[in-house]
Amino acid sequence: MALCFYDTLSRKKEVFQPLESGKVGLYTCGPTIYNYAHIGNFRAYMFEDLLSRYLTYRGYQVRHIMNLTDVEDKLIRTCRETGESLQTLTTRYANAFFEDLDTLGILRAEAYPAATDHIDEMVTMIKTLREKGHTYEADGSIYFRLSSYEDYGKLSHMDLEELRDGASGRVDNDEYEADSARDFVLWKAYVEEDGDVFWETELGKGRPGWHIECSAMSVKYLGEHFDIHCGGVDNIFPHHENEIAQSCCATGAQFVNYWLHCAHLVVDGKKMSKSLGNFYTLRDLVDQGIDPVAIRWVLISTHYRQPNNFAFDAVDAAKQALQRIRDFRRRLTECQGAGDDLQALCASCEEEFVKALDDDLNISGALGAVFEFVRAVNKALDEGTTGAEGAKNALALLDRLDSVTGLFGDAGTTDEAPEEIIALVNQRQQARRDKDFALADDIRDRLAAEGWVIEDTPDGARVKRI
Ligand code: AMP
Ligand code: ZN
Repeated sequence: MALCFYDTLSRKKEVFQPLESGKVGLYTCGPTIYNYAHIGNFRAYMFEDLLSRYLTYRGYQVRHIMNLTDVEDKLIRTCRETGESLQTLTTRYANAFFEDLDTLGILRAEAYPAATDHIDEMVTMIKTLREKGHTYEADGSIYFRLSSYEDYGKLSHMDLEELRDGASGRVDNDEYEADSARDFVLWKAYVEEDGDVFWETELGKGRPGWHIECSAMSVKYLGEHFDIHCGGVDNIFPHHENEIAQSCCATGAQFVNYWLHCAHLVVDGKKMSKSLGNFYTLRDLVDQGIDPVAIRWVLISTHYRQPNNFAFDAVDAAKQALQRIRDFRRRLTECQGAGDDLQALCASCEEEFVKALDDDLNISGALGAVFEFVRAVNKALDEGTTGAEGAKNALALLDRLDSVTGLFGDAGTTDEAPEEIIALVNQRQQARRDKDFALADDIRDRLAAEGWVIEDTPDGARVKRI
């Protein structure tokens, strides 16, 4: 079977065909860096990580671009509330974001362009839209005229006829609901509440709307027409709908071939979100001593188009699954002697794994194939029918599949430590990142008093009994 993805636009599974053989251009909407991202946000980034890793495993050269939104309504509101400058706030949370990506084993995109570094590109695109008759001005702000683009609404499958008359209404907010689909803002005229957040440009004094940044930056980094665009389902409307309108009207090109959206991480049926207050940051969980790989497991192991319910029993189940893989690895490492080289089992596991992921990233099927393999190899180990050669092949397979999942790696000895010890190790790592070396040393001493020693390795900190 060929690699297929469910495309939000066509509402069908489509065979993936890249624009350029062997290459994939991938654009994913990144965080608004006004606070710590919560693990709901990371569900989206985890799905995109799986996608990018799998495309790479399938032999594609992936050019993955993720934007950082560093000018936007929420950011400016936070600056006003805290008295901090935009730059101070966004630098702190961009750094935190990258630390969290590393903690979760999310591989880096090729570039993370920030909106404020691309004001010129946005101004140029808005000017093009103006020249082509897609905009109008009101109170110094510039709006996109919905009625000038007849395909508006195709992605979210809304009927524009049923919406309010675009000409009679417009919306200044960056985020709004489908029933208020109206002409949206491209350039916001300066208002006093914006403080020192403004640019003096040919469009006047002001700042860009949120949607234009992704249109301007995707063209710059991936060209007018590229392969895949992702985000969470909440991005479909209005953000991606508006991106399509802006990009298609400005360039005349098709824009994106495949639109992939992940369902939400939910808590008791409700979207995990800052506004509902039902969220955990990654740091909350890591500080409780939860192994980040178990969090990774929880975030990745539900199919991306299914809502994923976050609960602590799911974390416990993930820990157990992880322990099973780690015990298996350890057993393989210790296996000696001669026997079945396990080539046939390895090949059929890999075939099942690929077949599942080719089917719109069916991760449950892929993990199922791996557990079936673990069961079969454990049986061979119990019965003494395999030996060092088989174990070597099985470990090589796990490593190959781990390049896709990031779940089957060698965890060193950290997994044997109790949770309060792991919590201390994580706090020490954070202290080191914060350059609070006195605190880091203090935690090292506390660990020593408990009978544990930390070793810093290129793969991170490991803890061992003294
Ligand atoms: P935001 O910072 O709200 O713009 O969100 C950044 C990214 O995280 C977007 O792609 C959202 O779709 C995604 N996102 C936000 N909340 C959740 C959630 N609870 N589950 C999955 N993805 C989410
Ligand atoms: Zn975007």
